[in-house]
Amino acid sequence: MNPVFSDLPVTVFETMSRLAREHCAINLGQGFPDDPGPEDVREVAATALRDGYNQYPPMMGLPSLRVAIAAHYGRHQGLDLDPETEVMVTSGATEALAGAIFALVAPGDEVVLFEPMYDAYLPLVRRAGGVPRFVTLKPPHFRIDEDALAAAFSEKTRLVILNNPLNPSATVFAEADLSLLAGFCRRFDAVALCDEVWEHVIFDGARHRPLMALPGMRERTIKIGSAGKIFSLTGWKVGFVMAAPHLMRALARAHQFLTFTTPPNLQEAAAYGLAKDEAYFTGMRAGLARSRDRLAAGLADLGFTVLPSAATYFLSLDIGEADDVAFCETLVREHGVAAIPVSAFYETGGVRNLVRFCFAKTDATLDAALDRLAGYA
Ligand code: PMP
Ligand code: GLN
Repeated sequence: MNPVFSDLPVTVFETMSRLAREHCAINLGQGFPDDPGPEDVREVAATALRDGYNQYPPMMGLPSLRVAIAAHYGRHQGLDLDPETEVMVTSGATEALAGAIFALVAPGDEVVLFEPMYDAYLPLVRRAGGVPRFVTLKPPHFRIDEDALAAAFSEKTRLVILNNPLNPSATVFAEADLSLLAGFCRRFDAVALCDEVWEHVIFDGARHRPLMALPGMRERTIKIGSAGKIFSLTGWKVGFVMAAPHLMRALARAHQFLTFTTPPNLQEAAAYGLAKDEAYFTGMRAGLARSRDRLAAGLADLGFTVLPSAATYFLSLDIGEADDVAFCETLVREHGVAAIPVSAFYETGGVRNLVRFCFAKTDATLDAALDRLAGYA
């Protein structure tokens, strides 16, 4: 048989996590927290598993979870969602992204992508036959430029994919940027696929503003959330999709043929967890902000230039004239710390001087990484 080649790229998270294992490095690359997640939520999942939530649940998700999702986003973000027609459960945000692209993008359709972009977007868009149109966001502010939007949007624009808060830059889009984008979506009759998995992991008193809540966006926005980020349980892969019924019908068709359902015990636990009070969310954010500050201060003490982090599990270093890929290779091989070169999130190049670190780790892990980095500063 002829060898089979795939033009799908290897994700940077897999590459760096493999290197981290090979070199017994401290893995501050791929974003997953040391925190074991809320015990009560895990307990609900365990009990549900033991007590028989083990057969196919309904295709759209357990009714209890869909009701909990609608109530959660009503309480936290003022959204008014009908759990019957506007909410669906997927196997992680990743499936929701793939499904939305699969459902909506036909060959030749243009898709506006903001770089840096989460690594799943572009391969999926290309496989669907979509034509990517890039808008490049630059450090340190990663603001959206109106001229760049005007150059990217056209009559062929079908979809725009926005990640807010933005991984890897750890920034939150300003209301003005969201309004600008909403205006373009309305003008070109485009659908916004809004990856908001980091909506609760947001620091320093900031509030998340869903694109869906902007004027004229309710009918044309697909909003995606993830239980993995809300409960610090990234392996759980329970995603939430919210959209107006006319969009949801198309998304549900795709979901049928991708995974059809998501483990019911995890859905039951997510439904329980989404009802948690404000203290849980405040505590989760405060713990992560403390870790962010510890790593940022340690890196600054070593002489590195640390960019601000307003959200996510990440902060970035500006390494000046050095190349980020070479920097990360040396760091993991010779100093035993894995990080992510931010150029992996840019397609058109231009930004090669940022290195992303995950700070969602115990103090001991962060301090051990800082000790190793001292040799590199
Ligand atoms: N989108 C973004 C921006 C992410 O950072 C991640 C993972 N951290 C995902 C999607 C994937 O989420 P899930 O694990 O729920 O598939
Ligand atoms: N979202 C995580 C990150 O940005 C990684 C997810 C993955 O491994 N695909 O690090």
